[in-house]
Amino acid sequence: MALRKKAKGQLIVLSGPSGVGKSTVIAELLGQRQDIHFSVSFTTRKPRVGEANGVNYNFVERDEFERMIADGELLEHAEYVNNYYGTSLKVIQEKLDAGIDVLLDIEVQGAAKVRSKCPDAVLIFIIPPSFEELSRRLRGRNTDSEEVIAGRLQKAREEYKQIPKYDYLVVNDKVSAAAEEIISILIAEDCRTKNR
Ligand code: 5GP
Repeated sequence: MALRKKAKGQLIVLSGPSGVGKSTVIAELLGQRQDIHFSVSFTTRKPRVGEANGVNYNFVERDEFERMIADGELLEHAEYVNNYYGTSLKVIQEKLDAGIDVLLDIEVQGAAKVRSKCPDAVLIFIIPPSFEELSRRLRGRNTDSEEVIAGRLQKAREEYKQIPKYDYLVVNDKVSAAAEEIISILIAEDCRTKNR
């Protein structure tokens, strides 16, 4: 879809519990909106099978991540399940200044930091149709033990408490419908008088 050139890009934050299908929704969204830049985060977690450096994440050692924090290179960072995750400030700034929308896939602490630093960011939270469905999806991955799954479900309950800080809530029942809803949100945001 061709959109008019904007003076400044929109910062879009997407959060949601582990297992909600966020990456699939993001892939669908980016397939349809190739004008959006996906921010590749930095992390100290090890790559999973099929993940590539510079594509899914920039994988770095803990020392390097701590240097980036100290040198102020990150817009936000958070520790999540014993690993650091963070967003490069420079890349985002360049894209936004060029009028390009930037999408961040980050957890709730990072989203809160983005909100405080960039009040105009659009914050979207994705949830599954139910907790039973989330638990079914986590088990369906066949990658985690019952203990890890229980931990993720507990974390999801905590994350849900942050929903009031978000601007929009999208239910991921069907991936294409969830992506469509996000696209509609972004069109509406572009039409807001403050953005014209
Ligand atoms: P995973 O290890 O499953 O890829 O990601 C774990 C969590 O870290 C997800 O909720 C994901 O949204 C979040 N995350 C990924 N990149 C960043 C980042 O740059 N900053 C923050 N705060 N969270 C991130």
